[in-house]
Amino acid sequence: MVISGATGEFGRVDEYVRPRWGDRRWPRCPCGHELAIGGVTGSWSHALGLPTMVCLACQTAGTGRGSWVEIDVTRQYTPETAPGSGLALVRHRPASPAGAGRVELVLATTVVGHVELALCRIERRANLRALEVEPAHRRRGYGTVLAAAAKTLAPDYDWSVPAFVEDPVARSFWAAAGVPGPAPLAPCSHIRDALGLPSEAWTGT
Ligand SMILES: [Zn+2]
Ligand SMILES: [Zn+2]
Repeated sequence: MVISGATGEFGRVDEYVRPRWGDRRWPRCPCGHELAIGGVTGSWSHALGLPTMVCLACQTAGTGRGSWVEIDVTRQYTPETAPGSGLALVRHRPASPAGAGRVELVLATTVVGHVELALCRIERRANLRALEVEPAHRRRGYGTVLAAAAKTLAPDYDWSVPAFVEDPVARSFWAAAGVPGPAPLAPCSHIRDALGLPSEAWTGT
């Protein structure tokens, strides 16, 4: 038997997850309490290898929903250094400079979600190609974590998410996640060339 934590030997693996950025924490609990005001206490999830947070306002209110784990989206492993246990972000670099790279969310050794993106360092444009979370792992905040993990690779770039703009559900997700910027952009010529996209036919889908 493989002791990986993936089958719950060390506690729950289906915790709600929130991104953090180094020392900077998401300011609210999943219920919306401002943690700086309501208070927060922490412990450790051995199952996920991540800090667990408990919202004291939720605890007082007895809602029972006020706990989550935090994953640092600035800490992205390479495939070689991936821990192989707990919940971790693993980055696969693109084969060419403006080509499509991936960031995967990996539970033990299983990929439970991924985001695919292309970055142009010349024009400072980012093109988000796909974001997907496995159906059995949805509604835990994994999509938001993946979006934050992608954005942290190029926080001040102009972002485009052409595959999603026509889908209202996806549009509201991206609006909440803070991607794209003020106006959806077409991928630049470097990204189009690297991905083999036609140069004229970009229609936003
Ligand atoms: Zn709360
Ligand atoms: Zn470019």
